[in-house]
Amino acid sequence: MSRKSWLEKFLDWLYPPRCGVCHRFSDDPICQDCKSKWVLVSRPYCLWCGKPFDPQAKTSPLCGMCLQRRYRFDYARSAVIYDGVGRETVHAFKFNRKPRLAQPMGELMAEVAVRVFEGDGGLLPLPWHRPDVIAPVPLHPKTQRQRGYNQAALLAEVVGQAIGVPVEPNLLLQIRPMKPQATLGEKERWENVKGAFGVANPESVRGRIVLVVDDVMTTGSTLNEVAKVLKKAGARFVYCLTFARTVSM
Ligand SMILES: [Zn+2]
Ligand SMILES: [Zn+2]
Repeated sequence: MSRKSWLEKFLDWLYPPRCGVCHRFSDDPICQDCKSKWVLVSRPYCLWCGKPFDPQAKTSPLCGMCLQRRYRFDYARSAVIYDGVGRETVHAFKFNRKPRLAQPMGELMAEVAVRVFEGDGGLLPLPWHRPDVIAPVPLHPKTQRQRGYNQAALLAEVVGQAIGVPVEPNLLLQIRPMKPQATLGEKERWENVKGAFGVANPESVRGRIVLVVDDVMTTGSTLNEVAKVLKKAGARFVYCLTFARTVSM
């Protein structure tokens, strides 16, 4: 916990800090009780895209989607299941102006990244290389103005701090507005993201290993599209890391 100024202490006294999710008094951005209810993504999951499998079902190294080889990124991983308190955390973070939640969310994502750098418990034939740069999935400038912040950029900052990799918040651009992905079905999501992203300066990407950070991965269509433009600009590897992952779609 960083040292607080007298003004912050006074404000704490006036408005005692609360958990960003359940609103009970808590010095931390999320209380221990809520945090303990995050359901971590655990084995078995798809080696490529990190999608959790039903532990009762027959396991295979890759999910159906990855067997079709549709994704352009090299690997993706997520920290928690997008359900219950995990989903409430994302909603509070994104829609209820609780940017302080980026700290505990990003710290958990960094733990996942470190695990994968070490080979993901023997799951990966090739572990992730250390990224040269972290790039958050961008919002359209209009959405960012309305929200006041890009949630992916806040997560990227925390991850970058924790693993010691520089963050370039403007490496990727959203070059045209998209409909909110959450309002669309699976097929429309893939259409909606087509041509929506660009790379600000392709020179800065060529030959580099990029870790793309976002809050939630659902179908993977957004991350796939971002990976496509990064690869086109010459990125050597593109890895994706999200806080949450939807289980069924
Ligand atoms: Zn709470
Ligand atoms: Zn997969």
